[in-house]
Amino acid sequence: MPPITEIEKCDGCKSEGEPLCEQVCPGDLMRLSPEQKGYCVQPRDCWDCMCCIKACPKGALETRIPYQIGYRNAKLIPMMGTNNITWTCIDINGKTERFQYVTRTAGTGEEEEW
Ligand code: SF4
Ligand code: SF4
Repeated sequence: MPPITEIEKCDGCKSEGEPLCEQVCPGDLMRLSPEQKGYCVQPRDCWDCMCCIKACPKGALETRIPYQIGYRNAKLIPMMGTNNITWTCIDINGKTERFQYVTRTAGTGEEEEW
């Protein structure tokens, strides 16, 4: 399921060159619309890697959870920290849980610069 763009949050990465969501998508699926908003151009080719969602500095991209798993209002939101990632899970009743993990490269000297 391709990401949904929250239009009001996306600033088009200020239209300064290639937006981050486009840079990181391994399938080259993200583009800027004429309104300068990031979006997935070929939704059927998206394989839910969530790279674009993790990379978006504005938190403007949201994953769609397949209805077999979570129905329409369920959300899974990643938030990247320096050495960790926090996953916020919201179920269809609004129950919210957060899980934080150290990222694989933390402390190895292999941290990537974004
Ligand atoms: S990375 Fe986020 S803010 Fe930048 S263009 Fe993509 S969706 Fe918009
Ligand atoms: S979830 Fe992955 S494959 Fe799908 S648009 Fe984002 S970066 Fe590309």
